[in-house]
Amino acid sequence: MKKCEVAQRCDLPEKMTWDLQAIYENNQAWEEDFSKLDGKLATAAAFQGKLAGGAEVLKAAFEAVDDLERLAEKLYVYSHLRTDEDTGNSENRARQDRIEAKFAEISGMMAWFEPEITAFSDELMDSYMKSPELELYHRSLNELWRARKHVLSAVEERMLGVLSDALRSPAKIYSTLNNADLTFPKVKGEDGRKIELTHANYSKFLESEKRSVRRGAYQAMYNTYSGIRNTCAATLDGAVKTHVINAKLRGYPGALAAALFSDNVPEEVYRNLIDSVHKNIKPLHKYVKLRGRALGINKMKMYDLAVPIVGDCRREYSWEETVKTVKQALAPLGGEYGETLNRAFTERWVDILPCRGKRTGAYSSGCFDTYPYLLLNFTGTLNCVFTLAHELGHSMHSFYSNASQPYHYADYSIFVAEVASTTNEILLQHYLMKQCDDKALKAYLVSHLLDEVRTTVYRQTQFAEFELKLHELAEQGVPLTADVIDSEYARINKFYYGKHMDTDDLIAVEWARVPHFYYNFYVYKYATGMAAAITLAENILSGNQDKLDAYFGFLKAGSSKDVLDIMKDAGVDLSTPAPVEACLKMFDRMVDELAQLL
Ligand SMILES: [Zn+2]
Repeated sequence: MKKCEVAQRCDLPEKMTWDLQAIYENNQAWEEDFSKLDGKLATAAAFQGKLAGGAEVLKAAFEAVDDLERLAEKLYVYSHLRTDEDTGNSENRARQDRIEAKFAEISGMMAWFEPEITAFSDELMDSYMKSPELELYHRSLNELWRARKHVLSAVEERMLGVLSDALRSPAKIYSTLNNADLTFPKVKGEDGRKIELTHANYSKFLESEKRSVRRGAYQAMYNTYSGIRNTCAATLDGAVKTHVINAKLRGYPGALAAALFSDNVPEEVYRNLIDSVHKNIKPLHKYVKLRGRALGINKMKMYDLAVPIVGDCRREYSWEETVKTVKQALAPLGGEYGETLNRAFTERWVDILPCRGKRTGAYSSGCFDTYPYLLLNFTGTLNCVFTLAHELGHSMHSFYSNASQPYHYADYSIFVAEVASTTNEILLQHYLMKQCDDKALKAYLVSHLLDEVRTTVYRQTQFAEFELKLHELAEQGVPLTADVIDSEYARINKFYYGKHMDTDDLIAVEWARVPHFYYNFYVYKYATGMAAAITLAENILSGNQDKLDAYFGFLKAGSSKDVLDIMKDAGVDLSTPAPVEACLKMFDRMVDELAQLL
């Protein structure tokens, strides 16, 4: 395959593209469905003020909302997939803008729905919870009821609602500064020529084998953030304060409890994760030391963490070979899984090749009434093989949840969203390790997994710990100035990387680069998801049918239960430290294995 020339979309063979006609035969069919939305919205909106009128009325209201959202999602999926085929096409973009505006209209018009339910009397709710007509909606009603004690009076809710856009300002200002206004200086590339540093090319510099290139980019990056650290501290302080005040106003014990409430995850899960990583920090220090040795570096620096320590795996994979490899790697999931997997290729769920104007990267996307599509930009590297396994994990999870749950509970939560995809990656890793008799490839694979665990479990937990610390300080009334934030960041960073890392002052401002700190206790889910996947992959490989069935239970669960219950039934109890500890023990063993291989 010629990588230097990017093909035109019209030149791609049809079998290498996804089949969006399976959603809508043509744009006219999309328009016809789009024109139905207003009627469906009117039907749903007409229930306002009537939900207390009996089980049948409430059931009809739920159905009307589901019916409206289900169609809107299908329209959205088609429009955004079409846009991503050719991001420069303005007709596609216009279609997507229209459905996005419609979503905003729907959420404005239906904002009364949940507050009307949480305002029910206990007696009315009791009778609804006993009603067989409403059986399907009992879980949703329960969830709304659970949240009821944190809902304020109608006037207070209205005030907060009106203010909500303004309250997002700290995050918006940060994001505008970071993405639109901030520029970085020119730095020397590998060929000695100077080019402008950007968010997008920074990682390439850090992967350079030339240490001076890595150091140059690192210093340019953090010197730039040092220059705006006070502004970044003000926006982060604003965002953290918003979380803290919101928790206080709504009667939560603290910002952490408030953020974990919707997933019904107890605070201990979050704190256990940090504790477990603390107890198993030594393997990370050992890894830093091994990295230094492999790179022939006396004193490891923070900019030495991303450069590959095992020579690139230069082997190229054809598409056919990639599919075959992934299928074989996932064979332990059984024949039925394999047959469903085949449909991804025979029914053309996958848009495989890069082409001019196509969105970069890879994802899985779809809804209840479409295939779970995959967008790839396949170039034949080993990384592309992992990407296919990963995205198929998402798509198969969506497929089984859609096929097994009613629309109302088919969508799964972010908390479990990366579990199936990561499980597939671990299965592929295991398969390739078993197949390979080449020491160099083996070292590459081990190092690949080590970096995944380092960046997903160790690093995200480091972020989670920092995030918690900032919120606790804000709760104690400590103003989050740049000095306070820098010193917390530096202290935690030093603990994670240990004595084999020669940390400098610049890394203290790394927090200013990370948009996730505005997401309100989001990143810990990456770490728990990876730990869960490692246990689940082990269960699948054990060949025990009960364990395999339990895994399928997870794939099919959608959002029909609480996330911790779904994971527990699947075979991972995330309310205990065991899964995280098992994952870090594995990391420890693999550091030793890599040391041997090198
Ligand atoms: Zn993913």
